[in-house]
Amino acid sequence: MTILNPVLGIIGGGQLGSMLAVSAKKLKIKTVIFSDDPEAPAKNFCDEIIISDYNKLKKIDDFVSKVDFVTFEFENIPFNILEYVSKLKPVYPNPSINQIVQNRFIEKEFINKQGVKTTNYILVQNKNDILDNETFLPGFLKTCTLGYDGKGQYMIKNKDDVDDLNIDFKKEYILEKKINLKKEISIILTRFLTNDCLIYEPIENLHVNQILNKSVIPAVIDKNIFIQAQQQAKLLAEKLDYIGTMCVEYFIDENNNLLLNEIAPRVHNSGHLTINAYNVSQFENHIRAVCNLEKIELKKNYNAEMINIIGEEIKTYRTKSYSKNEFFFDYLKTEIKEKRKMGHLTIVNS
Ligand code: ADP
Ligand code: MG
Repeated sequence: MTILNPVLGIIGGGQLGSMLAVSAKKLKIKTVIFSDDPEAPAKNFCDEIIISDYNKLKKIDDFVSKVDFVTFEFENIPFNILEYVSKLKPVYPNPSINQIVQNRFIEKEFINKQGVKTTNYILVQNKNDILDNETFLPGFLKTCTLGYDGKGQYMIKNKDDVDDLNIDFKKEYILEKKINLKKEISIILTRFLTNDCLIYEPIENLHVNQILNKSVIPAVIDKNIFIQAQQQAKLLAEKLDYIGTMCVEYFIDENNNLLLNEIAPRVHNSGHLTINAYNVSQFENHIRAVCNLEKIELKKNYNAEMINIIGEEIKTYRTKSYSKNEFFFDYLKTEIKEKRKMGHLTIVNS
């Protein structure tokens, strides 16, 4: 189904929603954002915003009545809401994908079932599960649901650390063996309703305190890792029957093994450099895929580096001047918080 000048509904109003709205505008597509945050930064970039709790069905109905297609900018929207919306309007990617990727354990089981390697992990329901599995230490204990930017993660060096753990075991966790990381990379791809896929080249990512600090293309990796990462990401997108832009994060360990870390069913922070480095960005491609527009072959115009601007750092970036190969993005968040992503800077070079 092709709709002339469709209106796109986006659930979630953070910086990813903002950048989607900017790309939509370029394609003359109007956006209506639904967010539960009265200060949602995307309100500065979209055509219309509805602020309400996600479970207010009257407001959801109002939102749905205004749009032709629906997408979302973060994966932790209550599944029943996305399912409700999908009965009324097409939602891409399909909400059932979130049931897999919203839960780290289910996600990793799914990935391994496709023959793709992840880190070794176990499901943890109490402290004894950790004490009985010392081979997984040192390791990262991660909540199965609702973690991001290292939130809900605990580094456990040895058995003694388990005593000091003060966490709520009503929730489920996974314990993952700590990898001696050589590198981290990500693959961004966009899959269209025609089942065609566009894949960006691997992006090399540097994390500081479990938060993305820097992304760079080209990634300095072996050719076989380059190919394997792209193939695995494409395979998973196909198995999920994914529509839109998605990201796959990988670890490369000290022995050059590629291990899949996680899938993000959305545009991704590591893909921000595609705005300035490519003819078509991850955001524009997402809009093109979910609104069933034409697919344009990818062309890289520049190599690039993207730096995340966290917390108070934004103040200096706001007052700096920039050269013509530097692109500063201010997310226009009203409150500066420690560890909060406030903006980014992309530097391109040919
Ligand atoms: P989030 O959902 O918060 O992004 P991740 O599982 O991707 O959670 O972890 C965030 C970062 O923490 C990773 O990108 C990596 O730098 C580090 N990390 C997580 N798990 C491991 C591990 N098993 N071994 C080594 N580093 C890890
Ligand atoms: Mg991650």
